[in-house]
Amino acid sequence: MKIPFVDLKAQYYSLKSDIDQAIAGVIENTAFIKGKYVDEFETNYKKEYGVKHCIGVANGTDAIYIALKALGIGVGDEVITAAYSWISTSETISQTGAKPVFVDIDPEYFTIDVNKIEEKITSKTKAIIPVHFYGQMADIIRIKEIADKYNLILLEDCAQSHFAEYKGIRAGLTGNVATFSFYPGKNLGAYGDAGAIITNDDDLAMKMRMFANHGSLKKHEHLIEGINSRLDGLQAAVLSVKLPNIHEWNNKRLENARTYTRLLNGIKEVQTPAVREGAKHIFHVYCLRAEKRNELVKFLAEKGIDTAIHYPTALPNMPAYQYLGYKPEDFPVSTAYQDLILSLPMYPELSLEQMEYVADTIKEFYS
Ligand SMILES: *Cc1c(COP(=O)(O)O)cnc(C)c1O
Repeated sequence: MKIPFVDLKAQYYSLKSDIDQAIAGVIENTAFIKGKYVDEFETNYKKEYGVKHCIGVANGTDAIYIALKALGIGVGDEVITAAYSWISTSETISQTGAKPVFVDIDPEYFTIDVNKIEEKITSKTKAIIPVHFYGQMADIIRIKEIADKYNLILLEDCAQSHFAEYKGIRAGLTGNVATFSFYPGKNLGAYGDAGAIITNDDDLAMKMRMFANHGSLKKHEHLIEGINSRLDGLQAAVLSVKLPNIHEWNNKRLENARTYTRLLNGIKEVQTPAVREGAKHIFHVYCLRAEKRNELVKFLAEKGIDTAIHYPTALPNMPAYQYLGYKPEDFPVSTAYQDLILSLPMYPELSLEQMEYVADTIKEFYS
């Protein structure tokens, strides 16, 4: 059996005629930049989330950068974020001129360790960016308390957690602003790069829309200098077709995760991912902690099973952040997990037969 890590084609075939029609519509209307398909998606997304503003942007990295710039983060500021994430979360902090300050992750849930945030707060700290990682929300309730106590801006990086929940609160609805990626492999994926920002703050929404479009709200009137980061019509049209299905897809991922966890139960060399009490995990990534991880990866590959590592190196341990002077021991959990974590194939279309094959092959490796 051959099991790919992701299978974007299966999803395309399930919606083929609607997607083909939507793409043809964009071309027919030459609505490539801005225009009705982008307006439609922004409206659909903000309705689905129940927020006042949605701003479509070129990708999830720009989304964070645009939000930080519009919030006035810059030189001399510090922004706290998780030591384990995709580099977008921290490189955008640096791009504004501010300094990323990393906090280790929680050993159970892989998200920022809320017990280690306060010790990193200084007089320069302006914002916290929790990452709702692998599809599970960080402890946003306690993070919000800390943000309020120290008067910090709260930006939720929801790139991996569209419509995840914690104690009835959706990812993205607690902070001042939340950012999303629609990279093709994300739970809600476009057919190229795409991203969005949501907020209930009118003034912030206006500033972000302006900054993302060359500092302009009205053609040829540039109030500030900005950047060019727009959601394009083709991506917006694809996303509007996919959006009504996201809850069903998330539920299938969750079901598949439960199946994996049941099938892997009892293998003592493997630890399956934990779900926070009261959380709806949407399993963008199903991440194990596995002994002899590298040998296991090789064995699975030989048996036709693709896996991935999200990510091989924690952010503070990357060459890009050596200038900050951290040591690997400063982030004991993240550093230890570099050699343990392993992501199994995960998508809504996975079959029971495929998951049984993965689990049996893992059992075979350890026996
Ligand atoms: C994917 C991702 C991003 C960036 O999204 P792009 O659309 O690829 O720019 C940001 N943060 C996290 C946690 C991500 O996983």
